[in-house]
Amino acid sequence: MPETTTFRGDDNPALVAAALACRVCLSGEVEWALEVDEFDGQVHCHCLDCGHRRVVSLTSDQTLRLSLHREAPLEVA
Ligand SMILES: [Zn+2]
Repeated sequence: MPETTTFRGDDNPALVAAALACRVCLSGEVEWALEVDEFDGQVHCHCLDCGHRRVVSLTSDQTLRLSLHREAPLEVA
């Protein structure tokens, strides 16, 4: 079962970044790649600190939100 996440399409970037953070070591140093399907998508996350990998299922809103960050990476304040 892929994981799901809870950020909304209009959430603050810090919340979106937190949703992608590593669940094992809680690091925010995560490399992610968006995979877009016809109606929704999923994001493949790779923790740069501990190497943990996971796949998170996204709603269409979440997919759209992350697609906006391909050009402008998430900045964690
Ligand atoms: Zn980690």
